[in-house]
Amino acid sequence: MEMQMEIGIGYNADPILERNKEIDLEATATWLHLNPIGERVDWFKAIWFKGKIPKHAFIAWVNMRHRLHTKDRMISWGFIFPPLCLFCNTHDETRQHLFFDCEFAREVWIYFTSRVHVFPPLLFEDGIRWLKNPCQDKNVTTILRLSHHASVYTIWKERNARLHDSASRPAAALILEIKSVIRCHLDPLSRAQRLGPNRISFLATWFGLFD
Ligand SMILES: [Zn+2]
Repeated sequence: MEMQMEIGIGYNADPILERNKEIDLEATATWLHLNPIGERVDWFKAIWFKGKIPKHAFIAWVNMRHRLHTKDRMISWGFIFPPLCLFCNTHDETRQHLFFDCEFAREVWIYFTSRVHVFPPLLFEDGIRWLKNPCQDKNVTTILRLSHHASVYTIWKERNARLHDSASRPAAALILEIKSVIRCHLDPLSRAQRLGPNRISFLATWFGLFD
C-alpha cells in the first residue's frame, strides 16, 4: 500500500502537505466506506489526529478494529497455518503478541517511548487510548502517536515480508526506517507551524529526543 508523492502541486503550496491532504481525503473516504458514521469511539483522537501519516494511521485504525489478518484470526476461520510468531518463533501470533508482547516489537516501540521517558500500558487497546494524551507536551504527543503508528505499520510490513518473501530485517533496521520516515514527515509540518513565544518546532523537539 505504498503511496507515491508528487512534487510541484501549486504556487505557494507545500507539495508534501498538499499531497498529504489528498491522501487524507482518500483514507477518510476508505474509512467512511468501511465504517459508516456511527458512535464516535473513545480512541478516535489517537488515530485520526492532525499531522498523522495517512497510510500509517489507516493500518493503525484497521489494527485497532482488529481487522488485520493475524495468524490466530486466520486459524479461527479454519485455515491450516503454523501458529507461531515469525519474529520470535516461541509464541502464537496474536495482535497483542505481535505488536506489544513480542521482544521484536517491544524493541521497536520501546526505543521511542524510552527516549521520552513515558511508560504506556501493556495491553494493546489500553496503549491506543493512552495515545490520546500521553504527555503534556503537544510536540511530543504528536511524535509519540506518529512513532506508534509507524511502528505498527513497519512491524506489519516486516511480518508480511517474512511470511511471503522469507526476507527478514533486525529490529534496529525497522527503527532506522521509522526514524527516517518521521523525520521527513516532520519537516513540512514544522515549516507550517505558527510558533508562539517559548515554543519550538516539531523538528526541533525530534532532534532533541532522537538525533
Ligand atoms: Zn514473537
